[in-house]
Amino acid sequence: MLEKDIERVLITREQIQARCAELGKELAETYKGKNPLVVGVLKGAVPFMSDIVREIDTYVELDFMDVSSYGNATVSSGEVKIVKDLDTNVEGRDLLIVEDIIDSGRTLAYLVDLFKYRKANSVKIVTLLDKKEGRVVDIDADYIGFDVPNEFVVGYGLDYAEAYRNLPYVGVLKASVYQSN
Ligand code: 5GP
Ligand code: MG
Ligand code: MG
Repeated sequence: MLEKDIERVLITREQIQARCAELGKELAETYKGKNPLVVGVLKGAVPFMSDIVREIDTYVELDFMDVSSYGNATVSSGEVKIVKDLDTNVEGRDLLIVEDIIDSGRTLAYLVDLFKYRKANSVKIVTLLDKKEGRVVDIDADYIGFDVPNEFVVGYGLDYAEAYRNLPYVGVLKASVYQSN
């Protein structure tokens, strides 16, 4: 039913599953013996986080954070505010931030600074998607699922007006969806 709104599929469910298995193996090596705190950024990272943590075959803990940009949704002011903070004290911990997509990089730059200020021992980033052309702030993920072009994508956690997060693949919306809103 949701498929009727999709112009084209960019990344299939099978591709995502295969990539999660590869990344999970690398992460298990990186964090062997370390008990990292895996921090999911709500809400977009939930499907990816759910898949990738099940591919990391070592001890980890999970927590979530929700942040939002000040200002309206289309023109981000670059300021970030905490909507829901972690439950966990990160001092001395090894953190792995899980994101759905890096675009301008502002959200992640803010989170990395915050966790360093809170004295995390290490902070790494894994993102499902990387939109490198969108970058405004100089930040890169340590682990990247897929590069995507500078287009608005939905699915696998990514929303348009809170819809499409439950699509089991990443795709580009039909223009008619935007025009009817
Ligand atoms: P950044 O702070 O890197 O500019 O933005 C990251 C956030 O913007 C993402 O977590 C996501 O919520 C949103 N975002 C950026 N690009 C896209 C996109 O192509 N599609 C969707 N649905 N959200 C996006
Ligand atoms: Mg996000
Ligand atoms: Mg969104």
